[in-house]
This record gives sequence, C-alpha cells and structure tokens, in this order.
Amino acid sequence: MDHIRQHGKVIIAGAGPGDPDLITLKLQQRLQIADVVLVDRLVNPEVIHRNVRPETLIIQCGKQGFNDNSISQEWINHEIISHALADKIVVRLKGGDVAIFSNVLDELYAIKKYNIPFEIIPGITAASGASAYTGIPLTARGYAQGVQFITLNPNSDFTPEQWEAFAKTTDTLVFYMSGKNILYLSAQLRKHGSKSDNPVAIVEQATTMYQQVHISTLAQVEADFAGKKFSSPSLVIIGYVVNHHKEFSWFDHVSTGSVFHALTKQAITN
Ligand code: SAH
Repeated sequence: MDHIRQHGKVIIAGAGPGDPDLITLKLQQRLQIADVVLVDRLVNPEVIHRNVRPETLIIQCGKQGFNDNSISQEWINHEIISHALADKIVVRLKGGDVAIFSNVLDELYAIKKYNIPFEIIPGITAASGASAYTGIPLTARGYAQGVQFITLNPNSDFTPEQWEAFAKTTDTLVFYMSGKNILYLSAQLRKHGSKSDNPVAIVEQATTMYQQVHISTLAQVEADFAGKKFSSPSLVIIGYVVNHHKEFSWFDHVSTGSVFHALTKQAITN
C-alpha cells in the first residue's frame, strides 16, 4: 500500500572529529532511523555502535590516503544510490564536517542525477575539535585576523605567490592531511618570509583519548620533528594563537574521564 511505503532518502552527515559525544542531535535521530549507513574511515565506530539499530546495514567505505584504489568513489556512489532507490533511508557518514576536504560534491551530483531527496547535516570539523580540545582559539583577537583551512598533499601544487601569501598572512593556518609534510611545509613558509618564532602545533587524534599535542616553532621544527612519525589523523596549526595552548590546555583524557564518570554517577543518584 502506497501510504505506508517508505521513501528513499540520503542523509549526508558529518560525524565530528572523534569524540563520539561530538555529534548533533539531528544526526543521532537520523542514525536511529537509518536502514543503511555508509561509513568513512575517520568516523569513530562508537558513533555507530551507540546510535544505530541492530538491523541497520553498515557499509565501511574508508579509503587509506591518496594511493588507495581499493574503494572507488563510483562504487560508493553506486551503493548510496541503489539503496536509496530501493526506498531505504541511507546515511552517508563522513568524519568531521561534510564540506571540508571530502568528496561530497561527487556524491551530491550522483544523488541529484537520480532525483533522490537528500539533506546535509553539518559536523564539527577537525580544526574546531582540535582547537577546543587543545585550548588554541583559532582567531583569538590580537593574535590572528582570520583562519585558513588548507591541505598540503600529493595533489596540492602551490605557486610561489601562494606560499608567500601563506607566509605573510596574519591568519592562523590549519593544514589538513599534512602531518607527513611538516618539514617541507615549514621550510617553504620560512623560505617565503614567515617569522622563525611562528608557533606550530601538531595535534594527533584530536578529541579522542589518544590525543597528543606537539608544539614547536618554524625555526625549531627540523630539530624537534625530523624523523618523527605522527599518528593518523593529525592536524597542523600554525600561528601565534598556538601559544595559548600552554595556558588553556584542559583536555586530559585520564582526569577528564573521571570527571565525566563522577558527573554521570551524581546524575543517576539524584
Ligand atoms: N571532513 C573532515 C576532514 C577530512 S580530511 C573534517 O571536517 O574534519 C582528513 C584529515 O582531517 C586528516 O588527515 C587530518 O588532517 C584531519 N583530521 C580528521 N580528524 C582528525 C582528528 N581527530 N585529529 C586530527 N586531525 C584530524
């Protein structure tokens, strides 16, 4: 009967940077009604475990970096569309926010081509998560005039003029997918005129219990980080706002864990 027939829909949503509590109520509600969830590699599995029904079909579609051809975008698009056309509620879950360094456009074109209804739910991008959980306010007044989200990866090809603009800017620079290239990145910024005392933070696995923060300056990066392997995912923050970390760092997973525990206990006994 048509009136009880469920209509397919695609929900493209950001699952936040790692801490499973950093998702929106809207995403939580959509996960509870999802028939199919297609999940990116950087999504914390806890987000799925806590929120989907046991019968929901979970499809892992994480790619491992730029050289990974194991899962193609075409395959992902095909999965999204075929389930939606079979009248399923399909959630396409991406790490962080859906619009920051993700292939959302490819998926939107594919969905649009078949006239499938869709919605987009924002998520907390890694830069915001790392900023909050390290006590580094990205545009702190007097320290930065703005913030730029950039990536330095095998596909980026910056001109000398672009490097000069990065080197001379009064914005905080946040580099996604760039931890591996930190030595090159710092050398390029120095070469194009960035100040040697410009602080650098590398935040590994931000907002998770494995979060680690490494602080240096452009002049010191070579000495501090040469030969070091940062665990994935990691984010590079460059700018004087980084100096606030020392004073406002608060996230310590051991003590924070116990605070959450105590609060929960109190809530239950009251
Ligand atoms: N859409 C995502 C970004 C995808 S690109 C977002 O909005 O956050 C993947 C890159 O994001 C990683 O290489 C890393 O630079 C960054 N990233 C994602 N989660 C992170 C985390 N928990 N800690 C540090 N960096 C993270």
